[in-house]
Amino acid sequence: MKTHIYDFDLAQWQEYLRTKGYPAYRARQIFEWLHRHMVSSPQECHNLPTELRQLLEEEFHWPGGEEIRSLQSSDGTVKFLIAFSQRKVIETVWLPYPNRQSLCVSVQAGCSLNCRFCATGKIPFGGNLTTGEILTQFYLTQRTMQKKVTNVVFMGMGEPFYNYEATIKAAFLMHSTLGQSVGARHITISTAGVLPAVERFYQEKNPFGLALSVHAVFPEKRREIMDIEKKYPLQDLLKVLRQYRDRIRKNRFTFEYIMIRKFNMYREDAQKLAELAREFRAKINLIPLHTRFYGMEPPSEEEQNLFFKWLYEEGVLARNRRSPGKDIEAACGMLAAGKLQTNLLASLIQ
Ligand code: SAH
Repeated sequence: MKTHIYDFDLAQWQEYLRTKGYPAYRARQIFEWLHRHMVSSPQECHNLPTELRQLLEEEFHWPGGEEIRSLQSSDGTVKFLIAFSQRKVIETVWLPYPNRQSLCVSVQAGCSLNCRFCATGKIPFGGNLTTGEILTQFYLTQRTMQKKVTNVVFMGMGEPFYNYEATIKAAFLMHSTLGQSVGARHITISTAGVLPAVERFYQEKNPFGLALSVHAVFPEKRREIMDIEKKYPLQDLLKVLRQYRDRIRKNRFTFEYIMIRKFNMYREDAQKLAELAREFRAKINLIPLHTRFYGMEPPSEEEQNLFFKWLYEEGVLARNRRSPGKDIEAACGMLAAGKLQTNLLASLIQ
């Protein structure tokens, strides 16, 4: 298999070109063509010699061969479905806001976590995406929409910390000042709590924001909806986070909490959640449940407001993330490459 053209960082380009007998400055030129100008073919790289363009064409996999579909919501959200292969079909969500442009990227085709409430875990797992495939989402959407992305959330399909290296490398390439230079604080990685990877993330002093999908603060309750609680209990994860508390408090840390009617919205839930948020000076993102698996229901407006009020009384300000794009199944937890995938696969087979 050829290396994806977006897979190399600058040091890897330097090394590659050295072995091919090219001067070091070519590395930077190629890097800028790819990551700043977002070209999709070597022919667009005007200042490279013809034989180098040919080499890049022959030795690397370039984006452009993917099947792509998109769907636009009435609220402006656009969902892109990208098929890297028959097995690797993913979704990316373009989220326009008045003064910023957000992109929600996927790191795996499907997900192996099997959280009860999430649609992504219900489709067959198609494996990890490479750095190049993660970045393809980032460049392809910006080229199509002709607008620059200012914020990236790793909150699409899959678990970023089960695909740690490809995710972190993609984040650094998005952040590169020779590329799109998205601010590190504007890049947020969301995890269900893969303990060894969370530890590694802090040990390596990564500059990106972290979001933790909590969803239930009591172990018995969390186990009911998230299998990962059995493997990496929240209590153990919090012990790790406490080791890095000073850094976490200074940095931007988010707890994500799906509100599920008559399940995790009692006063004791609010109290414990607020306690955690205060300890880590974390933000709380509340997300009303978007699906209805196993009889779980979204809360009413009143129930949401009451939960919000309890948190407020505990001294923490939560944000209610009414995530956009519900009409096109682009909201949190709805990415299942559903109808679109069926159509796309049908067209691939033809
Ligand atoms: N695996 C990572 C990344 C996925 S992020 C993680 O768990 O954090 C997707 C976010 O949407 C997570 O916070 C996830 O818990 C949330 N989500 C999943 N299913 C949802 C649903 N049905 N309704 C609302 N939010 C959901």
